[in-house]
Amino acid sequence: MSALPTKLEALAIHGGAPVRSTLLPYGRQSLDDDDIQAVVNVLQSDWLTTGPKVVEFEERFAARVGARHGVSFSSGTAALHGAAFAAGLGPGDEGITTPLTFCATANCILYQGAMPVFADVSADTLNLDPQEVSRKISARTKAIFAVDFAGHPAALDELGELAKGRGAFLIEDACHALGAEFQGKRVGGIADMTVFSFHPVKHLTTGEGGMVATNDARLAETLRRFRNHGISSEARQRQEAGQWFYEMVLLGFNYRLTDIACALGLSQLEKLPANLARRREIAAQYTEAFRDLNAIVVPAVREEAHPAWHLYPIRLNLEMLAVGRGEVFRSLRAENIGVNVHYIPVHQHPYYRERFGSEEIYPVAEDAYGRLISLPMFHSMTAQDVEDVIRAVRRVVGHYGR
Ligand SMILES: *Cc1c(COP(=O)(O)O)cnc(C)c1O
Repeated sequence: MSALPTKLEALAIHGGAPVRSTLLPYGRQSLDDDDIQAVVNVLQSDWLTTGPKVVEFEERFAARVGARHGVSFSSGTAALHGAAFAAGLGPGDEGITTPLTFCATANCILYQGAMPVFADVSADTLNLDPQEVSRKISARTKAIFAVDFAGHPAALDELGELAKGRGAFLIEDACHALGAEFQGKRVGGIADMTVFSFHPVKHLTTGEGGMVATNDARLAETLRRFRNHGISSEARQRQEAGQWFYEMVLLGFNYRLTDIACALGLSQLEKLPANLARRREIAAQYTEAFRDLNAIVVPAVREEAHPAWHLYPIRLNLEMLAVGRGEVFRSLRAENIGVNVHYIPVHQHPYYRERFGSEEIYPVAEDAYGRLISLPMFHSMTAQDVEDVIRAVRRVVGHYGR
């Protein structure tokens, strides 16, 4: 048993009964019968890839996020790569991004032979701090890669101005933020290019998949070619026009999303409003339930933002706890609450340390990393699931609180 005084029932990690008997994951997909039927219908059709479902999904998705064009990719990472390519990043160029993100955001800059330059985040939202970006921006900057951490839009107005002032692109990694709004406008039609992911933990899934939304027809065309080997027409166009001739005009990849996946995406898109509403309801319940816990800092929401809540990351006020983040994390897992940590700062990964290691520190991001814990957040969570998370957090924090 712990040497600490037991204020409440014993924690599961100390031999008590866990708050729930099965592990609640931090995120998961929801698939209905009609999602499955949509996939089956494509399997029985003429086109398994680059058929009618791809265009239909791209158009409907773009309309939903308020963009003129949508270009689908085989993953969010491939979509980021496409955006870095379309922005013209190459050797000698720099892309500015946040250290507090999934490594793919920075990796896509490296894919193009350019250098990722990290800028620290704002303490409230943990999104790129425009002031830090303005310290790092230079004639070498080709693009700013902003991330909408946890689903809260980045400071898109200030970052957009900074990019424009240098003739650079604002690329928004909105993999967390499908359905979010900034100053009353939907994320997707604001930045030069906005990137989404359809990984199963995200708001909408196609298994693997991604999309770039843009209002710029030329960028959209480059993105379409890039994801199809750099070829300037599609096989279906040629078949329907009775033509065999095609031209490869740039060095692209096979990053296409299948019709099977797009049919699933179309079906899932119908459920996005309900999914978002449920996530916002859960976030409001968490925020209300933890209001009186001084040992926890709940996610901030700025006035101009309407977040999409991919994650609900709390920060521990370690000064008010007798143990560190690791012990709180393990205690919550023992209660069968599938907490997670987002993110290990990108520059701390061995690949980055060994190649680009510098004395540079990012105090806000690094401090946040030592305190962050993501609580379960997905749309099919039941009222009981939400209650279990709240009870477990209150039990664990209450136990270790000074
Ligand atoms: C999920 C995610 C990605 C990568 O998307 P995949 O579809 O898994 O390739 C990139 N950036 C962020 C911030 C993400 O959360």
